[in-house]
Amino acid sequence: MTYRTTLTHFIQEQETHVTGATGEFTSLLNDVSAACKAVADLVGRGSLYGELGAAIGINVQDETQKQLDVMANDLALSWCERGGQLFAMASEEMVDVYPVPEGYKRGRYLLIFDPLDGSSNIEVNGPMGTIFSVLRASEKPSANLADDFLQPGTEQLCAGYVLFGPATLMVLTTGNGVNGFTLNPDIGEFVLTHPGIRIPEDTKEYAINASNARFWEPPVRRYIDECLAGKAGPRGKDFNMRWVAAMVADVHRVLSRGGIFMYPLDDKIRDKGGRLRLLYEANPMSFIVEQAGGMASTGRGRILDVQPTGLHQRIPVILGARNEVQRLVDYHKEFDAK
Ligand code: ZN
Repeated sequence: MTYRTTLTHFIQEQETHVTGATGEFTSLLNDVSAACKAVADLVGRGSLYGELGAAIGINVQDETQKQLDVMANDLALSWCERGGQLFAMASEEMVDVYPVPEGYKRGRYLLIFDPLDGSSNIEVNGPMGTIFSVLRASEKPSANLADDFLQPGTEQLCAGYVLFGPATLMVLTTGNGVNGFTLNPDIGEFVLTHPGIRIPEDTKEYAINASNARFWEPPVRRYIDECLAGKAGPRGKDFNMRWVAAMVADVHRVLSRGGIFMYPLDDKIRDKGGRLRLLYEANPMSFIVEQAGGMASTGRGRILDVQPTGLHQRIPVILGARNEVQRLVDYHKEFDAK
């Protein structure tokens, strides 16, 4: 077997370009990748461990929590709490933040994660993923530790996701482009397979949950209507639609072959502010998409600029091919000016 750049070596190499870097970051990402391998192992066994898709309660988001969600969350916590680099963690599956417990060394970083994105795909053996984001911890921790996590997406030091598909793949940015690493299960290492991922500016493919069409705002309706009109319509080309219903898988497709992904504001979710979570999903994915040359907007502003007001805040998400996202932003602007 010939050598290929491992994730660890890749991060080490990147860290040598940062003055003052001490290997902390390499160590932190090693823990995160180990956690993701543990979740990949769990997910990869399907129902062999029992009814993993069984609903066991309702989470903080008012959504059905499945056994596998909770198991993935616990795995992530236990793999990451003892490495010495983290001060605290926040997860989509936990109401409050999780300070690194007494007895373990506390570090200078905060970890935010969605342990199992797309867990409604468990029953159908469809793709799922883990999403993560790293922030710097405050020098003087707030009395309410959750406040320290409320940093805009521009403050992220690193963001990534791991897609549990036919292959397990990690896509990562540390603010210097986007790279993809495939897990080689034989050696237990993520190896660099997708260097310098870029999203084409144009596309003929869109992803949206069309069952919500009757709730959409006019700018989104207009955009989709124009796509549906195809060659004969104002866009002058035919479009394809794709929807996996796991954000990681849908965004990964956009990164792999282009496209636009939308979970926009609509009348059904207006009270909640959107569907996807700003800290666990929108911010890490927007950082990755921008680093790959794409664009990520609420429709009315850059996602990464949003000042979070709550750990579990939701937000509208439109991301992917730069020219398509810009078009939707323009449609919102035109509509709002009326
Ligand atoms: Zn999710």
